[in-house]
Amino acid sequence: MQNQPVETPHADHLIRKRVLVTGGAGFLGSHLCERLLDQGHEVLCVDNYYTGRRSNVEHLLDNPRFETMRHDITSPLLVEVDEIYNLACPASPVHYQFDPVQTLKTCVHGSINMLGLAKRVKAKIFQASTSEVYGDPLVHPQPESYWGHVNPLGLRSCYDEGKRAAETLFFDYHRQHGVEIRVVRIFNTYGPRMHPNDGRVVSNFIIQALKGNNISMYGDGSQTRSFCYVDDLVEGFLRLMNQDATMGPVNIGNPGEFTIRQLAEMVVELTGSSSRLVQLPLPADDPRQRRPDISLAKQHLDWEPKVQLREGLERTIAYFDRLLRGDNKI
Ligand code: NAD
Ligand code: UDP
Ligand code: UDP
Repeated sequence: MQNQPVETPHADHLIRKRVLVTGGAGFLGSHLCERLLDQGHEVLCVDNYYTGRRSNVEHLLDNPRFETMRHDITSPLLVEVDEIYNLACPASPVHYQFDPVQTLKTCVHGSINMLGLAKRVKAKIFQASTSEVYGDPLVHPQPESYWGHVNPLGLRSCYDEGKRAAETLFFDYHRQHGVEIRVVRIFNTYGPRMHPNDGRVVSNFIIQALKGNNISMYGDGSQTRSFCYVDDLVEGFLRLMNQDATMGPVNIGNPGEFTIRQLAEMVVELTGSSSRLVQLPLPADDPRQRRPDISLAKQHLDWEPKVQLREGLERTIAYFDRLLRGDNKI
């Protein structure tokens, strides 16, 4: 359905669009689907359920404007849509390294298919890229103009280089075929509906603390990351998609920078846990530091994060607490 006006309590001037979200049953995708439905759009969630879960979108299934399709984007997809958000790709190192060839295929073949679709139906297309394109950065904080420092052969390269190739494909489809693109470079994001077993630092630490287990700190915990709460990130997605022209990639993340040890200590404090920090070997090619320069997002999207780490962790802890108690309706 194209360009039909719709009245919603949130935005009565809005045009209802038919929006495809690939990876819509994943952590970020499920929040995005929810926001798009809130705005009155029709949402088609396409997912192969590799790391996504039905339970992430179960609460949306009653909505007549929501539809799900089991499909792997490495195969062609023939649908009619107005906008595409391409989020399909495992995001945690444990998952993307489990089947690295599939990760690369998802990034490269998947992007080609979604770009081919966008070209055919003349849809605007958004790519979820990543701060991993900066690798182990030699410039700090990282502006979009930094070309990165990536090991092309290491264990992380299926993801880092896959996402870099995907960015190249997006800009070449734009230059060569006039496809309207939006590319966001996402920095570490956390919040409710992160997969409890995906090995990312925030979910690992919270679950360990809630269970009273040891906190698995890799290395001496002096490496840094910047953690963005999921609601802030999704707001950034929508602003980028809705701004007028195709521009270069845009960093979206929270510039607050914390060491992994600080994160561990904060989680232990907020959960009131008796867990102890233990040091485990640092994974290969683990970036030393990561912090976004968000000047571009501030200037062009009037966007900056609102949720501080402490507040976002409290909300995420509450989610995992309910999950561990067996409440799946969350
Ligand atoms: P996630 O693993 O929860 O979600 C990814 C979704 O994609 C899952 O539902 C999975 O089943 C689906 N998927 C994977 N391969 C697919 C394929 N070939 N075909 C169809 N579906 C497929 O991860 P997330 O955190 O929600 O990440 C979403 C996107 O954002 C990813 O592209 C990721 O690279 C990017 N990103 C996330 C973060 C973060 O901190 N969460 C940081 C940088 C970039
Ligand atoms: N494609 C798709 N859905 C469409 C249109 C194209 O999945 O609606 C796929 C198509 O299978 C092709 C890819 O997108 O493999 C790239 O399409 P493009 O038109 O750029 O290239 P070509 O078809 O000429 O190889
Ligand atoms: N990390 C950790 N303990 C864990 C999981 C991760 O100390 O249980 C560290 C990891 O080595 C990295 C940081 O936390 O330095 C962020 O890891 P994550 O896998 O969440 O994201 P990424 O490395 O992709 O930024």
